[in-house]
Amino acid sequence: MKPHKQIKDWGLGLTTPLIIAGPCSAETPEQIEQICKEMKEENMIPQLFRAGIWKPRTRPGSFEGVGEEGLKWMEIVRHNLNIPITTEVGNAAHVELALKHKVDVLWIGARTTVNPFAVQEIAEALRGVDIPVMIKNPMNPDLELWVGALERMYAVGIDKLAAIHRGFSDAYDKRFRNKPNWSMPIHLKRVWTGMEVINDPSHIVGRRDGLQEVAQRAMNFGLDGLMIETHHDPDKAWSDAKQQITPQRLKEMIDSIDFKEPLETMGPDEKLQDLRRAVDHLDDQLLDILQERFAVIDQIGAHKREHHLTVFQSNRWKEVMESRTQKGVAKHLSEKFMKELLYCIHEESVKRQEKQLREAEPIKK
Ligand code: PEP
Ligand code: MN
Repeated sequence: MKPHKQIKDWGLGLTTPLIIAGPCSAETPEQIEQICKEMKEENMIPQLFRAGIWKPRTRPGSFEGVGEEGLKWMEIVRHNLNIPITTEVGNAAHVELALKHKVDVLWIGARTTVNPFAVQEIAEALRGVDIPVMIKNPMNPDLELWVGALERMYAVGIDKLAAIHRGFSDAYDKRFRNKPNWSMPIHLKRVWTGMEVINDPSHIVGRRDGLQEVAQRAMNFGLDGLMIETHHDPDKAWSDAKQQITPQRLKEMIDSIDFKEPLETMGPDEKLQDLRRAVDHLDDQLLDILQERFAVIDQIGAHKREHHLTVFQSNRWKEVMESRTQKGVAKHLSEKFMKELLYCIHEESVKRQEKQLREAEPIKK
C-alpha cells in the first residue's frame, strides 16, 4: 500500500462520504453569491465548494471560463460558507494562479489525465507544495493512465490524493454522457489500497434525471463521496446547463440517498464472518478443481505435442463456450460473466499448451 493521505487526513476537516458541490463554471460574482445564498437557505452546505475557472471545452467557441478573476469570487465563498474550495487546473500557469489565490484542493480534469505531458507539467509546478489533488479518470477507460497521473503527483511529494470517477466517453452507448463502467473505479481501489474515489454523477449522466440513481449506485458500491454540479438557475448556466441542479434539488437528493456504512470501519459481525468463512472454503475448492482441470489440460497438451496438433481448435472452443454458457445461465450466472470466465480459463489453457509445444524437445519421427 502506498502511504498516501486519505481525505480525513488532508487537514481540512473533511470526512467521507465527501460531498462536493458548486457550479460547473464560475460565471459572475452574482452567480457565485446566489448559489451560496441558496445553499445556506436550503441548509445544504457541501463540505467542499467546486467551480471551474478554466474550462477545457471539447469544441472551441464554447465558454472557456472566466480565468483568474473567478478565483477572487471563490475566495469569497470560502469566507462566506466557511468551507474549502476546489478548482480544475490544466497546466502550470493555472497551478501558479490557484496557489496564489490559496485554492484548498486542486483537481485534474478528464481531458488532462489522458495526457502524461500535461500531468507531468502540473506535477512539476506542484513539486514541494502541500496541497491535496484529486484526479478525474481519463476520457477513455484506461486504468493505467488514471493510476499514472496519481503516481506522477505522488512522485513530486503530493501525498494528499483522491480520485474522481466521472465516466468514460463511448461512441455507441448514448444512455450516458459518459459511461460509468463501474469496474474501473472498483479496480482502482483494488490496485491502490486505500485510494478514495469520489463519484461525479453529473458528468456521467449529463442530464438532471438519472443523477440520483447513479449517485446511489456509487454509494452502494462503496465509493467515497459525490461531486455534483449545482447552479441557482441551471437552464441558464454557461456550461453543462442540462446536468446542473439547484441547491434545493441537491438537498432533496442528498437527503434521499441511502449512504451505506463502510464495512472496514465497523468490523464485520459474526454472521458476516461465518458467511465469509464459507466463501473461503468454497474458494479453496474452486482452486482444487482448477488445479485438477489444468492437470488434464497439460495431459491434452502432451497428446497434442506427440501428434503434431495445433493447440487452438475452433470447433472444440465453440462447443465448450456454448455448452458451458448455457449451463451457467441455467444456474443463474449471467451470460457476460460466463463468457468472461470461459475466455479467461481457455486463454490460460491455450497458453500452457503452447508453452509445452515450445519447450518440448523436438519429437523424433
Ligand atoms: C468539470 O468538472 O466541470 C469538468 C470539466 O469535468 P471533466 O474533466 O470530468 O469533463
Ligand atoms: Mn461540467
